[in-house]
Amino acid sequence: MTGFEKRISGKLSKLNDEQVEQVFDTLNEGREMVKAVLDSLLTGLIVCDNAFRIIVINKSASKYIPFTTTATRLHSTKIPVWNLVLDCDVSDFLHSAFKKGSSSVCREFTLEATGGKLRFISISLIPFVRKNKIEGTIIAIDDVTEKRSQETQLRRMESLASLTTLAANVAHEIKNPLGSISIHIQLLQKAIQKARQTDGLLPNEKFLEKYLNVVNEEISRLNGIVVDFLFAVRPVNASLSLYEPNELLIQFLDFCRPELAEKKIELQINLTESAPKLLLDEKLFRQVVLNIVQNAQAAMSQGGILLVSTLVKDDLFILTIADNGIGMDEETSSHIFEPYFTTKTAGTGLGLTMVYKIIKEFSGDIRVQSALGKGTIFSISIPVPQRERRLLGFSKEKG
Ligand code: ADP
Ligand code: MG
Repeated sequence: MTGFEKRISGKLSKLNDEQVEQVFDTLNEGREMVKAVLDSLLTGLIVCDNAFRIIVINKSASKYIPFTTTATRLHSTKIPVWNLVLDCDVSDFLHSAFKKGSSSVCREFTLEATGGKLRFISISLIPFVRKNKIEGTIIAIDDVTEKRSQETQLRRMESLASLTTLAANVAHEIKNPLGSISIHIQLLQKAIQKARQTDGLLPNEKFLEKYLNVVNEEISRLNGIVVDFLFAVRPVNASLSLYEPNELLIQFLDFCRPELAEKKIELQINLTESAPKLLLDEKLFRQVVLNIVQNAQAAMSQGGILLVSTLVKDDLFILTIADNGIGMDEETSSHIFEPYFTTKTAGTGLGLTMVYKIIKEFSGDIRVQSALGKGTIFSISIPVPQRERRLLGFSKEKG
């Protein structure tokens, strides 16, 4: 009770009508004040009683979580909150927290906001304590979409840190063509000067063309170096949506089939039946698969077997691409994701750098296992989004 309430309690019978009205106004003002404060918070708050029925809910909460009924009617229902929530994952989470009596848990969810955009929200449950007794649960909801994108930003900055090494490599690569261009231009200048001083005739055309050709070739080499460099440093901008990975894989592999057949490479595909949808960017995922398949092809110049399989383990979708080609020693395989690392005469050494960057955009991981003379296995793991885990039926309250 506030000081004001204490002062007037017990005196109510002695107040006249006007004074009673004043008391009501003051109390009402206090309540409106609390409501305005709650509604100004960016954090969504739902206060529930011990049966998980809503006592108080603020504006942000009804903005973040889709409910079956309008916000104004939410706290007048006698229905437990999990039955009012439209999203099945959130509903399951709340229901199971109630069943287990767990009042201090936190979990992140992927919800589809208006316009099909994905929003990441974090829901925490805290005990609602009054007069030293737990009288219910407070559900706090935060929008962590921004935080997620900051994490992505940070990851990109980290990758920029390796830029110094990269720049040193590029500077080194640029030196040779520049030197060659400079020498050939000097030779041309000398030839022109000589012609001016003597008969005015330039040396034989073929001779001049040879110099110019070298200059041209070196310029296009420089251009290639710059293009590759930009490719290596430019952040990949993934625009993520939910995709069925197996469907995409079949589509990509069908595209590779003719070339594999021509190279006498047998394609074996073993895909999990219960593939969940993943947050992917179709074009970038295609690049990942094609890059790895191309490398495998190069490693099996005499033909071989390319095995592509997928499985779901815990909350990860795992894609493995294995070949029985030339393989790599440990030293080589420890460098393959570095920009410009290549063992091929005409390789760019950027394929797997790109693959690595893309997989990180998918919040995933990539590993390689290889044995010289035996073959190479690439394993890519990508987290299964919360809502998909539920569909697979293995998420029933893990964390
Ligand atoms: P590039 O293909 O241009 O050389 P990548 O980044 O794609 O660049 O690959 C880097 C290096 O990794 C390759 O040059 C090769 O030595 C090694 N590598 C990649 N995949 C395989 C594979 N499947 N088998 C053997 N070596 C591989
Ligand atoms: Mg490659």
